[in-house]
Amino acid sequence: MPSGRTHDRITLWTLPWIIGLSYLLTRNGELTLLVAGGFLFSGLMFGPDLDIYSRQFQRWGKLRCIWIPYQKYLRHRSLLSHGFLIGTLLRVIYLLALLILLAIPLIAIAQLILGFDWNWRLFAQTSLNSLTGKYLSEAIAVGVGLELGAMSHSLSDWIGSAYKRLNSNKAKNTAKKVQKRRNKPQNVPLNSSKPRKTRKK
Ligand SMILES: [Zn+2]
Repeated sequence: MPSGRTHDRITLWTLPWIIGLSYLLTRNGELTLLVAGGFLFSGLMFGPDLDIYSRQFQRWGKLRCIWIPYQKYLRHRSLLSHGFLIGTLLRVIYLLALLILLAIPLIAIAQLILGFDWNWRLFAQTSLNSLTGKYLSEAIAVGVGLELGAMSHSLSDWIGSAYKRLNSNKAKNTAKKVQKRRNKPQNVPLNSSKPRKTRKK
């Protein structure tokens, strides 16, 4: 599997292609920027390798501890972290759940101090309506960017593993051939297997 540095390079080298393709398909600078931003964020710090102590994990700095439960429950390179769609979707849900858990006490304290009205159900409904209505294109652009970033990672993982397997199989076959050659009896006459006839005198 490629190293963290190789994954970073792949993300950065692929970025111009993602930008070009996004602009070609959307003809919209803002959506292109959102796809590119999602792709970079996913490739560099929101990708599948958050399931281990990786570069992506380290880039969260002091906040990286939020990914420790994620790492504990997910096996490295499992379908839930490296799989198509499910990996990104689970990370988004995980991060949103954490943000909500953090926001609940904070908003409660702010309400006590400042005395403003807050309705979580109304907030959730308004957010969902905005994401599925007014900002649907933007939400799709970010989602596509995040998924492309994650898939560029997973694909290079799979290709790297397949290449390694192929090479190790080749090495094993060569070693077997060498071993066979070594095991062959040396300097034995060609007709040694046939019993020699002795002439009767
Ligand atoms: Zn990986």
